[in-house]
Amino acid sequence: MPPILFLDVDGVISLFGFPTSDPPPGRFHWVDGVVHCIDETCGDRIACLRERFELVWATGWEEKANEYLPHILGLPVRELPVLTFDGRASPRSAHWKVDAIDEYAGERPAAWVDDNLDEACERWARERAAPTLLVRTEPHMGLGDAEVELLLRWEQDLTRAQGERP
Ligand SMILES: [Mg+2]
Repeated sequence: MPPILFLDVDGVISLFGFPTSDPPPGRFHWVDGVVHCIDETCGDRIACLRERFELVWATGWEEKANEYLPHILGLPVRELPVLTFDGRASPRSAHWKVDAIDEYAGERPAAWVDDNLDEACERWARERAAPTLLVRTEPHMGLGDAEVELLLRWEQDLTRAQGERP
């Protein structure tokens, strides 16, 4: 079974905080009446990660992630599993995602990409028994090649370690 990869959207795929004087780092899309700058090159990176991970949306977008993103990003799937948060979403941190992420991950190795990881998220990662990786993004840059490489290397080491286990 592959490790799980929890994917945030705002600050990872939908970018913000970039200098308005520069060309935007993506194209603008209307999502439920709000304009988002989406880095469409993330589509290839996510498709590549999907070969090694079970991808799960972990975002305040909830179901909207599937309504919009596979199409905008040209993903090879129509939808991914989605975590729901029962109205707990808060813009300034990501600790409100921990319970839903923990429940979904169970005992499995898991990585989590988010621009808003805080102390509660780090504590969760430290205290898990299964291998866990947190990957931070800069909200104006999002999921880039460096983050993808980090994730793939982690997955490779994990697979190797599992193969060596007696
Ligand atoms: Mg975010």
